[in-house]
Amino acid sequence: ELANRMAERAADVVKSLMKMGVMATMNQTIDADTAELVIEEFGHKVVRVSDADVEQVITQTDDIPENLHPRPPIITIMGHVDHGKTSLLDAIRKTSVVSGEAGGITQHIGAYQVKTESGAILSFLDTPGHAAFTSMRSRGANVTDIVVLVVAADDSVMPQTIEAINHAKAAKVPMIVAINKCDKPSAEPNKVRTELLQHEVVVEAMSGDVQDVEVSAITGEGLDTLLEAIALQAEILELHANPDRAAMGAVIEAQLDVGRGPVATVLVQNGTLRQGDIFVVGEQWGKVRALINDKSERIKEAGPSVPVEVLGLNGTPEAGDVLNVVETEGQAREIAEYRKAAAKDKRAAAGAATTLEQLMAKAKADQDVAELPVLVKADVQGSAEAIVQALEKIGNDEVRVRVLHYGVGAITDTDVGLAEASGAPIIGFNVRANSSARSSANQKGVELRYYSIIYDLVDDIKAAASGLLSAEV
Ligand code: GDP
Repeated sequence: ELANRMAERAADVVKSLMKMGVMATMNQTIDADTAELVIEEFGHKVVRVSDADVEQVITQTDDIPENLHPRPPIITIMGHVDHGKTSLLDAIRKTSVVSGEAGGITQHIGAYQVKTESGAILSFLDTPGHAAFTSMRSRGANVTDIVVLVVAADDSVMPQTIEAINHAKAAKVPMIVAINKCDKPSAEPNKVRTELLQHEVVVEAMSGDVQDVEVSAITGEGLDTLLEAIALQAEILELHANPDRAAMGAVIEAQLDVGRGPVATVLVQNGTLRQGDIFVVGEQWGKVRALINDKSERIKEAGPSVPVEVLGLNGTPEAGDVLNVVETEGQAREIAEYRKAAAKDKRAAAGAATTLEQLMAKAKADQDVAELPVLVKADVQGSAEAIVQALEKIGNDEVRVRVLHYGVGAITDTDVGLAEASGAPIIGFNVRANSSARSSANQKGVELRYYSIIYDLVDDIKAAASGLLSAEV
């Protein structure tokens, strides 16, 4: 490979290595420093690929205002289990699949588009729930523009409802509340609205600014209103993209298909993805062999906010990986290889979990006011609230603690997911992580801190904050 890049004979490269005392065969991997020596020996110029190079290839700056056009919003549905997320997604898909007849056959590719009565196009992520949302975020793919929070009118605001609210807030994504199951005689939509108040979600019916719509996924009542509410929210967000640039997008699903090879569903976020495009996606690369939309039709191109299945990958990427179209196969391969090597280095360095101090330093570097995000789990509601109050009091103009989520009970996988996505440590007060959360925290480098005395907890965090401040002076 090295000989190839230098346009030299492989045998000469091996010979030159031998002269340096490196006994290598043609297919052996040599380290970067040795490679550098060989390159100089041949009188060539060394160009090491770095993060900055990768950035340069995949970043484009031609998104001047004139090139920007409105793009459809991308929506994720969240809420407590059994409150009707799946039913709602199904009902929406059936009412108005874009350009297909209502009730037309759609293929599950992880996302679909619908058209509202007034003509707006909306893209829905077809994987309800929080795990998908957080795992995408933790991989750097902030795909969701709007969260639809589903709450069953015959039930209450439940733990996962609160989790969803906190996820949306942490991601700074606006919410629309869908009060579902309003066809039921036992439905009490106003009770839901009042309960949401306690979680700082003030809906329009309560003179707040969060849109709320009463719906029924079963009868279809209110669905049109919900879709229009989403379209309105999207208008407020003024979402734009430049369809004329090379495409970039996020992988929402990927698998190895027996007949078709690696297949990824990509949500195009900017630009237009076309058949024949060469791209890099995470640690993989490829050339678009075919594009298939949510109605199983082969299409030639996919513009902003369009979900599309991509064939022609050389390996299977992961959900949340970012796809970038590049100019040449050489670039695509080089970036993919660079990323593979970097990921390997990172895995080797793992175990060095992020500490509270490192987080503070990073937060400080990122913005004027350092914000330390934390998650708090406690044994009882009273302690949780007392801790949150105490933590939020810490800080001044420069440092602030931000509690992303707090709750009662053991630390779970969902907590770890949210913590990872936001780079936050999890504080357990008289509770510990369950075993699966423990191993995933370990793997993801999420710091778990256990306390049984509030004073100690507050003191530790204060110390981290003030240490940082004095270092600044
Ligand atoms: P998820 O866990 O949030 O995805 O909830 P599902 O969509 O699986 O719905 C849970 C249960 O509630 C199912 O038995 C649905 O048939 C029922 N359900 C969902 N939406 C409605 C609704 O609007 N009205 C009534 N009556 N039942 C509903």
